[in-house]
Amino acid sequence: MALIVQKYGGTSMGSTERIRNVAKRVAKWRNAGHQVVVVPSAMAGETNRLLGLAREISAAPDGRELDMIAATGEQASSGLLAIALQEEGVPARSYTGWQVGVKTDSSYTKARIRSIDAQRIRDCLDAGRVVIVTGFQGIDDEGHVTTLGRGGSDTSAVAIATAVKADECLIFTDVDGVYTTDPRVVPSARRLNVLAFEEMLEMASLGSKVLQIRAVEFAGKYRMPLRVLSSLTPPDIPIEQEMRSGTLITFEEDVQMESAVVSGIAFTRDEGKIMLLGVPDKPGVASIILGKVADANIDVDMIVQNQSVDGTTDFSFTVHRNDFQKVQDLMRNGVVEEIGARELVADEDVAKVSIVGIGMRSHAGVASRMFKTLADENINIQMISTSEIKTSVVIKDKYMELAVRALHKAFDLETEPVSS
Ligand code: ASP
Ligand code: MG
Repeated sequence: MALIVQKYGGTSMGSTERIRNVAKRVAKWRNAGHQVVVVPSAMAGETNRLLGLAREISAAPDGRELDMIAATGEQASSGLLAIALQEEGVPARSYTGWQVGVKTDSSYTKARIRSIDAQRIRDCLDAGRVVIVTGFQGIDDEGHVTTLGRGGSDTSAVAIATAVKADECLIFTDVDGVYTTDPRVVPSARRLNVLAFEEMLEMASLGSKVLQIRAVEFAGKYRMPLRVLSSLTPPDIPIEQEMRSGTLITFEEDVQMESAVVSGIAFTRDEGKIMLLGVPDKPGVASIILGKVADANIDVDMIVQNQSVDGTTDFSFTVHRNDFQKVQDLMRNGVVEEIGARELVADEDVAKVSIVGIGMRSHAGVASRMFKTLADENINIQMISTSEIKTSVVIKDKYMELAVRALHKAFDLETEPVSS
């Protein structure tokens, strides 16, 4: 007998029919002798609808009240699932986050979980019930309802799994796993059987929207492996088969054996590039430029600067598109003048493409193969950044898909790696 946490996303909970299917799947696990905690999302579209109502009334609604409203989405879906399970003949009880002591800080709409009182959940399991705990929410020290940020049920599931010391944390969703890259760009993209936490973080933050990033961070920190799998398979598929499906996100030690040098290719059009040309090459310049950006609480992604031969240099960096205009204004209103730059160029027609893989730690020549591949396609690289498990390039926006396809092929990602 194992203790299993299962999270179901909004699409999986999207109608009463689908909720019945979730109940059938959960009943299968429970009837096979497992203890099951289910963490549902709100029914698809419900959180948007609820937040939209608040925005119809106010352009700047109060965070506390937004959380009060948004938290009801999961409360409803959880209660519905409990009823559906009871209809299947399975004793089940639903709880809100606050009823089972999901304690968070007080940052409304983006709260962080601090602790969970696992005893209540365990007692209920020991009484032979399936326990359903609302995703996405908790309660702060003053007793106010909080929510964890959009997509936060993933994090709830991981936190609950950690608190109850679950054997498995299954994230059921509307895709059947994590792919080598977006199949809409590369139709031959392959589902990954296994991926390391760190790789998933790089893939997620670069655009694959399968899991909330914070959930992956949490899982890595507390060493809770996650399996991302489809809730659209027939609910009665054999458990052994279900446990071989999807993508397991786990410890690096367990991935190495199976993995290729490059596991996947991530890409994004969400960044813009700022170039300061003809900047006097002297101490303090980078600190002035990036200090202003940091003061405005804006994250910088890539940075490129060379030492000069003739006394002036160019300084480039990228920021998220949402901050692009703001950063340009910051530069134009003071920084350009203060550092004595000749010119500011803002380029929005850029894309970032990254190859990701823990195998890069131990293999040389991976980055150069990437550059050669892009060169063969005549794609100019504007910026490069590397970490131990990732190499990213900034290129012209219109070549992004070409680059992703060429790299997918060059690193042979269509083919299942042979275990070493
Ligand atoms: N219902 C919340 C949202 O739509 C949380 C979640 O689904 O994970 O963001
Ligand atoms: Mg989600």
